[in-house]
Amino acid sequence: MLTRRHFLATGAAALAAAPAIVRAQAKWRANPFSLGIASGDPSPDGFVIWTRLAPEPGEAHGGMAIEPMPATWEVAADESFGTIVARGSAVARPELAHSIHVEVTGLQPDRPYFYRFEAGGERSGGGRARTLPTVASAPQRLRFGVAGCQDYQSGYYTAYRHLAGEELAFVFHYGDYIYEYGPDPHPVRKHAGDLLSSLDDYRRRHAQYKADADLQAAHAAHPFFMTFDDHEVRNNWAGDFDDDDQAPPDAFRFRRQAAFQAWYEHMPVRRSSLPNGAAIRMYRTARYGNLARLDFLDTRQFRTNQPCGDGYKVACADVTSPRAHMISSEEEAWLTRNLRTRDARWNVVAQQVMMMSLDRRSPVDPAPSKLLNMDSWAGYEAQRERLLARMRGLKNVVVLTGDEHTNYAGLLHDRGTPAAVEFVGTSISSDGDGQDVPAWGPDFMAHNPQLKFINNQRGYLACDVTPDEWRTNFMVVDRVSTPGGQVSKRATWAVARGQPALRSV
Ligand code: FE
Ligand code: CA
Repeated sequence: MLTRRHFLATGAAALAAAPAIVRAQAKWRANPFSLGIASGDPSPDGFVIWTRLAPEPGEAHGGMAIEPMPATWEVAADESFGTIVARGSAVARPELAHSIHVEVTGLQPDRPYFYRFEAGGERSGGGRARTLPTVASAPQRLRFGVAGCQDYQSGYYTAYRHLAGEELAFVFHYGDYIYEYGPDPHPVRKHAGDLLSSLDDYRRRHAQYKADADLQAAHAAHPFFMTFDDHEVRNNWAGDFDDDDQAPPDAFRFRRQAAFQAWYEHMPVRRSSLPNGAAIRMYRTARYGNLARLDFLDTRQFRTNQPCGDGYKVACADVTSPRAHMISSEEEAWLTRNLRTRDARWNVVAQQVMMMSLDRRSPVDPAPSKLLNMDSWAGYEAQRERLLARMRGLKNVVVLTGDEHTNYAGLLHDRGTPAAVEFVGTSISSDGDGQDVPAWGPDFMAHNPQLKFINNQRGYLACDVTPDEWRTNFMVVDRVSTPGGQVSKRATWAVARGQPALRSV
């Protein structure tokens, strides 16, 4: 209460002393690029570049006056910005939290570019992006990153610092970019504000996360394909249903609308992902020449409510209901069409929640029979089986997943036959330091023979893809509870194209 009063008093005083328009012309009180810069959704001829003007990210409107602010941007062929290849102007509008999204086009395929912004006489740092190869090309190699689940309160983003130093074409983010909770009792770093509800709440949380230097370094180094999972909105939300159905759907949609708007404002995504009320178009495709097709799924917005009351449960009848679905019928038709196109050496299904149907029984969670995670694909068995049947004949499908806060490599079976492989990335920070093999690990592996690898440290995946072999490197950090953790390659698992099987390298 004291803090809030203090903030209101100084905020009002500052406004009275220096009207906003004067402030903008007479330079900034603080760096307007405090939330960094980012690029995303690369294509063969361009990408999105993003920033949000916020000289005081913890304050209302990021410390900006409620009026439009002009900005300029430039893209260069070289890191020192000696050869500018594109430039333009943009307006940071208060309606969108003074964020700027520019869809840069007309660039050359498969090469790095550098970008920066300028506003009110202040210049941002430089970022590096990279265009994709043309669809008609036949790349012999692709290296990209996979990351997500970055609970600020659980630890430092040291894994992002290391990811920033990798040579990557892009990063796939599987969601849980923010967590919506209020302050934990004993956090490594404390959330500002309570449980998120309003647009302003979500904006401030995004701003708190974005102010992290390691996260900013990762964004400045690589273009990201952003997706979202549950915590960008609310733990285990499903379609129009709140966590544990606490709010009725018509009320919950307002929270989702606020969360989606803040998500758009803070993500380097295209205008096609601008929310319309409580709806957003997130699922989309990218092609890396003929080497890989990546289909990014939305496994939250269109799903039916989790069956059997959610949580870890023994299957009830609803698990196999033909009406239950994780992705909409439109999204399923789109994915099926893309898988059938057979236009790439590898089909990558880049998504959020575990597709393997695992038995979750443990000494902590005992049960008389198979215990399923109803928030994962295991709770949506009819659609899961339809998709696996479609993947089976292709023998080139790699599913990429997050959410578990544990590294896994495993096999996806269609009626007893391996149909695809699934790599589950751990978390950047969520759940804290962790350990190599958790106490429950050996038992869990024994219950689930489709699992080939488990590790419970924090980190990210680095995938090396060639026309005939896929390698996933599990990169882990030794700690996130204090800064300065060391990174190491914990394991590498390989898949040969044409054979859904896993080999330790
Ligand atoms: Fe998470
Ligand atoms: Ca999640």
